[in-house]
Parts: sequence; structure tokens; C-alpha cells
Amino acid sequence: MTSRGVDVVIAGGGVVGHATAWELARRDIEVLIVDRHLPGRATSASAGGLWPVGEAVGLGCGVIYQATRTGSDSGDAVPASLPAVFRDFLVESNRRFPELAGELEDLTGVDIELDSGPGLLFLMQTARQQAVVDNIARGLPEGFVLEILSPEEVGELEPAVCREIVGGALLPGEDQVNPMMLAEAYKRAALVNGARFQNDRLVDEILRENDRVVGVRMGEETVACGHVVNAAGAWAGQLAATAGITLPVEPVRGQVVLTQALPPLIASCLSTSSCYLAQKRHGEILVGSTTEHVGFDTGVTEEGIRGLCRGAVGAVPALADVGVKRVWAGLRPGTPDEMPILGPVAGVDGYVNVAGGFRTGIVAAPLMARVTAQAIVGETPDVAIAPYRAERFEE
Ligand SMILES: Cc1cc2nc3c(=O)[nH]c(=O)nc-3n(C[C@H](O)[C@H](O)[C@H](O)COP(=O)(O)OP(=O)(O)OC[C@H]3O[C@@H](n4cnc5c(N)ncnc54)[C@H](O)[C@@H]3O)c2cc1C
Repeated sequence: MTSRGVDVVIAGGGVVGHATAWELARRDIEVLIVDRHLPGRATSASAGGLWPVGEAVGLGCGVIYQATRTGSDSGDAVPASLPAVFRDFLVESNRRFPELAGELEDLTGVDIELDSGPGLLFLMQTARQQAVVDNIARGLPEGFVLEILSPEEVGELEPAVCREIVGGALLPGEDQVNPMMLAEAYKRAALVNGARFQNDRLVDEILRENDRVVGVRMGEETVACGHVVNAAGAWAGQLAATAGITLPVEPVRGQVVLTQALPPLIASCLSTSSCYLAQKRHGEILVGSTTEHVGFDTGVTEEGIRGLCRGAVGAVPALADVGVKRVWAGLRPGTPDEMPILGPVAGVDGYVNVAGGFRTGIVAAPLMARVTAQAIVGETPDVAIAPYRAERFEE
């Protein structure tokens, strides 16, 4: 059976697919989103941290990743920095959130729960970490603020934080949202602008005729289209392969612990070399997250959960007496250089990537979606997509 054609089919309805659908639909493009929620969908698992500089300099999830990679449990792992071009991309995407929150709420009635606290506060637990942070602070260009706090200043800002620290590194303006509400708001905004959804359907195959994409197959049904947008999260590489395209997206598992709801305990988003913590709107504290290369395994492990709980209690001792409400794991769409993969692919007309959000896919979603839509309709993108094209992996 062949259904009536559409301008664009978006394969994957996580935050990135929904955001892209809205950006296209509001430009009067006819969009069909095809999604099946596979176990481990990243958007539902995410912490919702908007930590553009924190992640770029490695003081968010990156420092945990580095500690895991190097097997360092001393807290002295030196986090790797992301390229400056991507740091600026994240900062620009993050800058749009306050206006976006208002716009999406006006359009859909959905509150994305944008919480602006003091910022992202990295707790320095060793003198070596202090030296690393000083170095990071020196390397930041003008206009970027990283405040070094004494242990006393950390105590004043966050009385619940442990006293055994050498200081804190505060990145103001690094906030959080509810990632599921963000995806839902984008979805409803896309619907308001005329996008259509096929829920609980998988795109089994991207259909090609020579060097052009002509549609998608979902079971027995095919849908003709002018463009296929690959927004399939950790599964984007598998989907691309059905069109003969190599896309190096790999799942990177993140385990998460959520406490029971508590009265306000921490105002900042806190990070250490073993976990990060963010108190959500309804009082639960989210503790994340492991970074593991275990394929599509979405299980949680005793070691992973214990490590997060140990890290959380080490940072905020009062959590020792607090119950756990839920634990889960999600699959980040990881790429070799930790940057997203955006835009068309040479030699395959009509195919477009918006994939590889890895550990910054929530904060990056607004700009990932916008430049993708701009590339499809032929507008000049707000930021150049050249550094994010899939071809970079062929060099
Ligand atoms: C534990 C954890 C914590 C995180 N914390 C943060 C954070 O604090 N800040 C931040 O910015 N980012 C964070 N991230 C990263 C962020 O969540 C992801 O980068 C982002 O959600 C990716 O969104 P996506 O839409 O690309 O993928 P997903 O949300 O995974 O969505 C992809 C969708 O496509 C569907 N799908 C797959 N294949 C097909 C197919 N063939 N046909 C139809 N549908 C298909 C999937 O089932 C899914 O519904 C975190 C991730 C994890 C796992």
C-alpha cells in the first residue's frame, strides 16, 4: 500500500524530531513524524540539564565520562573539552530557551519547567581539580563567566553540600528544563502548525532510487516524500544503513537515580567527578549518570546505581536518609567526536541528518532543529552546519 506523499518524513519522535517537526511545520512544510518509543529513548531518560559551557569544558557529565574512561576514582580525571565551535553552538541554543519557553507555552499550554537557579556548580574535591578548573577558567574567552568559589562561599550558596571540598566552580546561566515536557511542547506546537503523526510505527527502511531518497517503508506501507529526516536517536546509524549510508552513531548508556520528592534542598545543578544532581520542579532529586558503551542494553546495574548513590551522598550528605523513587537507563546517541551530525549527505539527495545529540541533545535541540529546517527549505542557517556534516568522519 502506498500512502499519499508528504514533503518531509521525520523518522524518530524524541525531542530532536519533534523540535524539527515544529520548525518545518511553522514554515508551511507538510510533515509526517513516524515514531515508535523504543526502550532507552534518550529524551525520556534525560536529566534536562542546560549546561552548554559546563558540558563543553567537561564539568557536567563529561568529567564523569572521563573518570570512567580513565578508571580514575580519585576524582582527578582531567575532562576533555569540546571544540569551541560546538561550545558556541550550545551557548547559542541555550540562549533561546527563555523566549522559547514562553512561545511554546502560548502556543500549546505546556510548561517546559525552565528553572533558573544559580547555575551549574562543580564541586572541587581535590587540589588537582582546583588546578584543572583554574586552567579551564583561564582558557575561557571574554564574555564567559566561571566563578571560583571558596568552600565557605559554596556553603552559603548551597548549605546542604558537604564541607570536604576545596571550592566550587559556578557557571551562572546553566539551568534545567523538564525534557519530557520540552518534547511534548514541541510535539503539540508541530501539531498546531499542521504536522501529522504516526505513533507506534517504525520506519523500517528509507527508500532510494539511485542518488535520491523517494520515501520510507513502514511494514507493508510506503510513504513517498521529498525529504527523509533521520532523527532516530541512538538508532540513527541503523536507520541510515537501510539507505546505504554510514552514520557513526552509537548508543551510550546512562543510568539515573531519582529520589523521592523533597523540600527544596539544592538550588544549583551540582556536578562532581562521580555524578551530577538536579532538584526537579516537584522536589525529586535526579542523580545522573553513568556513561557506558554496552550496546542497546537498557538495564540498570547494581554497580552503576550504587556508584551514583555514593557520589550523591558524598556531595549532599543529607541524601543518605532519603528514599529512591525510581531508577532507569537511557541511550544517548553518541558520536566519535561527541558533536551532533547534521544536514544532508553528499550523493543522497533528500536525506537529512539531525542526529547524535549525545549528552547535550536537550540543550542543543532548539538550534539543531532550526538549522535542519533552514537547510531543508533553503534559508541561510543561523549557524553554519558545515562542522556537523557526516562527511567529517571520512576525512
Ligand atoms: C541519562 C541521560 C541523561 C542526559 N542528560 C542530558 C542533559 O542533562 N542535558 C542534555 O542536553 N542532554 C542530556 N542527555 C542527552 C539527550 O537526552 C539526548 O541527546 C536527546 O534526548 C536525544 O534526542 P533524540 O530525539 O535525538 O533521541 P531520542 O529521544 O532517543 O528519540 C529518538 C526516537 O526515535 C525512535 N526511533 C528510533 N528508530 C526509529 C525508527 N526506525 N522509526 C521510528 N522511530 C524510531 C526512538 O524510539 C525514539 O522515540 C541525556 C541522555 C541520557 C540518556
